[in-house]
Amino acid sequence: MRWSPLLKSAKRGFLYPLQWSGLTAWVAQTAWRRSRLVILCYHGISLEDEHRWHPSLFITPEVFRARLDLLADRGYTVLPLAEAVCRLFEGRLPPRAAAITFDDGLYDFYAEAFPALRAHGFPATVYLTSYYSETQRPVFDSVCSYILWKAGPGAFDGEPFVGTPGRLALGTSAERADVQARIRRHAAAAGLSAHEKDDLARRLAEKLGVDYDRIVARRLFHLMTPGELREISRHGMDVQLHTHRHRTPRERGAFDREIADNRRAVTAVLGERLLEHFCYPNGDIAPCFLPWLAEGRIRTATTCEPGLASRGDHPLLLPRVLDSALLSPVEFEAWLSGLSSFLPTLRRSRDWRRRGGREAPVRAGDR
Ligand SMILES: [Zn+2]
Repeated sequence: MRWSPLLKSAKRGFLYPLQWSGLTAWVAQTAWRRSRLVILCYHGISLEDEHRWHPSLFITPEVFRARLDLLADRGYTVLPLAEAVCRLFEGRLPPRAAAITFDDGLYDFYAEAFPALRAHGFPATVYLTSYYSETQRPVFDSVCSYILWKAGPGAFDGEPFVGTPGRLALGTSAERADVQARIRRHAAAAGLSAHEKDDLARRLAEKLGVDYDRIVARRLFHLMTPGELREISRHGMDVQLHTHRHRTPRERGAFDREIADNRRAVTAVLGERLLEHFCYPNGDIAPCFLPWLAEGRIRTATTCEPGLASRGDHPLLLPRVLDSALLSPVEFEAWLSGLSSFLPTLRRSRDWRRRGGREAPVRAGDR
């Protein structure tokens, strides 16, 4: 079930009196909550206006700092993910346990999240998709989507970008999504290299009057450099696996290669270490992945399925709470406390997890 905007605002209105009545704080200190772990999921902290482009993936630095202040003020214990999951399954979690995860390893983590986390002494896990860390260009799909949004309403001759003649409209988010999908398909069909895709994105920006040099200079949609990864790692941030090219092939050899290339890239930068925690790119899960991950020495994997993790969960199907610009403070706190677990939005997810993921793949979050 998906919340319609009306239902979502009704839910938000419903949560305020529950918080004022003290119910949210009461749930947070129950034995039920103590046997659960909230794993927070972030993607990006805006360097400019990315939260306006994609509010489900980006939040502002101010909102992120407010989230960390709230975790500290309400007495949540933020644990490293590996320790938190270990203690979850051993039944040894402290009260109000939380873990923080960031998907992809974007530069904005280094610029904005890392200093804020350090100020609180909070650890975090960064699931690194390593390919764009090596190439150091804007992530192609994201930057194309951002350019189309930044251009504003209008239409343009799309042939150089999608390979077929005709004008492409950018009036609505659906039109922009369609254009972006056509550009992605065209780049894939043409077998463009990373350099050629970057050149295509630059030409798209020039065509639409968007300043590509500024995007590159501000490092929007760039991943962290090896030096930045080493620095965050030295200061308590754990770098783990998210596939090398941000994809999850259904063919065993290709899937294993994604994990192996990802491991090789992280190890080359950070040295030999335990790489046994994984996050599904795009929240894309198929039942065949579970034995492949287990045989690949992966102990835990996190999803984009919303919820608090419990001992009843499969360690390779751990739910998370996706924090974003769309989540109000009262909703965020309802998730931390566990109160939101009792609201109907999770029914499908819990049933799905209980069946061990034997259902159609889930697609949410990410790119
Ligand atoms: Zn991702």
